[in-house]
Amino acid sequence: MVQARFHFHRELNDFIARAQRGQTFACACPKASSAKHMIEALGVPHTEVELIVRNGHPAGFDAQIGVNDLLDIYPARHVPRGMEHGALLLRPPLRIDALRFIADAHLGGLAQILRLAGFDTRYDNNFPDDEIERLANEESRIVLTRDRELLKRRTVLHGCYVRALQPDAQFREVADRLGLAPHMHAFRLCLMCNAPLRRTTLDEVGDRVPEGVRERHTRFVTCDVCRRVFWEGSHWRRMRERIDALTLASRA
Ligand SMILES: [Zn+2]
Repeated sequence: MVQARFHFHRELNDFIARAQRGQTFACACPKASSAKHMIEALGVPHTEVELIVRNGHPAGFDAQIGVNDLLDIYPARHVPRGMEHGALLLRPPLRIDALRFIADAHLGGLAQILRLAGFDTRYDNNFPDDEIERLANEESRIVLTRDRELLKRRTVLHGCYVRALQPDAQFREVADRLGLAPHMHAFRLCLMCNAPLRRTTLDEVGDRVPEGVRERHTRFVTCDVCRRVFWEGSHWRRMRERIDALTLASRA
């Protein structure tokens, strides 16, 4: 065994044993352990780590832990100034203009809000963990879950542990962490199918729109998968207000 020291910063403390929180602690590591192995063994999924600093220098997940090493481990948004480049040692950067998500079975409400805000989000309450891992990998999606074991899976590259329990709060949390606010685009995707919405005319969808709506509204969008029609009525306005409120809240 090799004795090394660890210090987990900020919200990463949520994942580790109470006695180890908020301080530097010593830990015996099996010989030739990697930083990633030890971080996850101590409870923190690799997706939650933004930067590893070993003895004052940024290090990768595969850095081998040596005798009396000191590892400082930081979450997103709390990387010390001047160390930002160290995050690239852990994973390729996210393209903020092309973010895609996959939400686990417990996050259906969050998935709908993300779609409402225009973010491509896979969700099916029957996806087993293996399927989530496969789709995340094949389609370069960020895994959203409250299951830390799912985030420890080897091929899950980008993930986000969701702390909040209510969908609106979950959305704000994800939007804050990933800086989503400037990229929101309401009514681009169908809330139910995640398929693109397109503008349509009353001639095309009139038979799918209630009579009262036909008389009072002129702008319609439709989903070619589920054939739902959305119009700029009170529902649309309420949704827009909800998105605006969330956008403002996450900018605050
Ligand atoms: Zn649809």
